[in-house]
Amino acid sequence: MRRTDHEITDESERLALLRAGKYVSIAMCRGGEPYIVTLNYGYDADANALYFHCAHEGCKINFITDNPAVCATVIEDRGYLAGQCAHPYRSLVLRGAMHVVLDLAEKKHGLRVLLNHLEDDPDALQTRHFPDDTAYERVGVLRLDIREISGKQGQ
Ligand SMILES: Cc1cc2nc3c(=O)[nH]c(=O)nc-3n(C[C@H](O)[C@H](O)[C@H](O)COP(=O)(O)OP(=O)(O)OC[C@H]3O[C@@H](n4cnc5c(N)ncnc54)[C@H](O)[C@@H]3O)c2cc1C
Repeated sequence: MRRTDHEITDESERLALLRAGKYVSIAMCRGGEPYIVTLNYGYDADANALYFHCAHEGCKINFITDNPAVCATVIEDRGYLAGQCAHPYRSLVLRGAMHVVLDLAEKKHGLRVLLNHLEDDPDALQTRHFPDDTAYERVGVLRLDIREISGKQGQ
């Protein structure tokens, strides 16, 4: 990082940002063509991975199937300061590999991680959306295995 004075060197601070974030923008690349989408996520600290829900088909699935390597960013936006041309933030850049999860047990785990991360009452949503195993067939699940995380803060 060029501005090392802005680097978030404390790993616990970086992981706290990851736990607090609700969505991540994920850059993919296939045959020299870039693509980016934003997704809500759940952070699995034990696996050092993010889980996502999505449709079974679509552009991002095609990209990660061809090339699982991704780069992603999570932002804590503290708001633009009008008149000062300044924008305080803390942000992360993650690098890793993204995969489609097919195993039913891992899909259940990943969706539970997602609901625990995003919802105040995950049990209520779990009961409503996933009353039985067949409900899991309707949703796609992705996992981003995190290889490295950098953090930066700006005034
Ligand atoms: C805050 C936020 C949270 C989101 N959370 C989720 C989530 O948890 N799960 C989920 O599946 N999706 C989520 N989305 C929507 C996501 O960004 C994608 O639109 C969606 O996943 C479809 O991606 P795809 O590659 O399958 O697109 P496809 O349906 O295959 O469409 C591909 C084409 O549509 C265009 N496109 C795709 N997405 C967008 C977009 N968001 N804006 C403008 N153009 C677009 C692209 O240019 C591309 O050419 C979220 C979006 C936002 C902003």
